[in-house]
Amino acid sequence: MKKIEITKPDDWHVHFRDNEILKAVVPETTRNFARSIIMPNLIPPILNGKQATAYKKRIEDATPKKDTFKPFMTIYLTEQTDKNELKESFINNAIFAAKLYPAGATTNSGSGVKDIKKIMPVLETMATLGMPLLIHGEVTDQKIDIFDREKVFIETILAFIINELPELKITLEHITTSDSVNFVNEANKNLCASITPHHLALNRNTIFKGGIRPHYFCLPILKREKHRKSLVDAATSGNSKFFLGTDSAPHFVSDKENACGCAGVFNASYSLPILAQIFDNNNALKTLEKFTSINGASHYNLSRNKIKLKLKKNENPLRLRKSLEVNGEKIIIFDPEFSIFWDVALP
Ligand SMILES: [Zn+2]
Repeated sequence: MKKIEITKPDDWHVHFRDNEILKAVVPETTRNFARSIIMPNLIPPILNGKQATAYKKRIEDATPKKDTFKPFMTIYLTEQTDKNELKESFINNAIFAAKLYPAGATTNSGSGVKDIKKIMPVLETMATLGMPLLIHGEVTDQKIDIFDREKVFIETILAFIINELPELKITLEHITTSDSVNFVNEANKNLCASITPHHLALNRNTIFKGGIRPHYFCLPILKREKHRKSLVDAATSGNSKFFLGTDSAPHFVSDKENACGCAGVFNASYSLPILAQIFDNNNALKTLEKFTSINGASHYNLSRNKIKLKLKKNENPLRLRKSLEVNGEKIIIFDPEFSIFWDVALP
């Protein structure tokens, strides 16, 4: 196949940050995606409907006029989240979902939840409303090996939440292990998972190839090859429980190339060509649309996008832009370091 046409994709997990970074990165997403769930981990985080609405306006202002794009807003759950206020914001469509970050799990997650039992009344309200819970599924206990934090999270905290509230709609975000794939497969229909392009593309060796490479450091951290293969199997299977969330997470070079560099990969620019190449390499182009454009929408009870998007396979590999410039600073664009022949075709 040299050309395919798919329903315009959605990115169900993206970080736009704020201010100058926001203005630079929003067009990279809105060019090829129709809708996104926007992460709330700003400094300070988005905690209520009012803040979410103001943030949504800033995103809409940064969206190029030619792009039809709909941002879905989230709030950041804390042990102080008020369930009545949350209910009101959800009913007023100010927020679409709530995000659970265990305290300290990733960039700007300092106000996250320490004791899951403290937020159970809020989760109960969400289950009643049909409001999705989005989870960064890693424990933050520094005594647990960094490569095992997702597995321990699902066995302890996620299993507990599902057992208490089986009717709660949950997205286990950016899964990275075969343990998560198996857990999601065996769980009830309300648990689905998103997968990122970088976890499909690379294993943990990339972080250390020839030295330490901060632009491949993300959280959850890249895992062993057997886990990457398991993610590729899940994504290409067509199974409706798995869908795309890029977790595109921009940082300035100065914050990445640092004695204590930030976690995050900025992949919005070439997510779709990279995914098309991975699916093609696995003889699975037929299921690409399910992963990028259909499974997520059905998990969130949303209709499919009406617009289509074309991808074409070129003779020569794509030459990726290396970075985005923002006020004299740079944000490095994710490069999976294999040849990508696919590209989004102009409509
Ligand atoms: Zn994220």
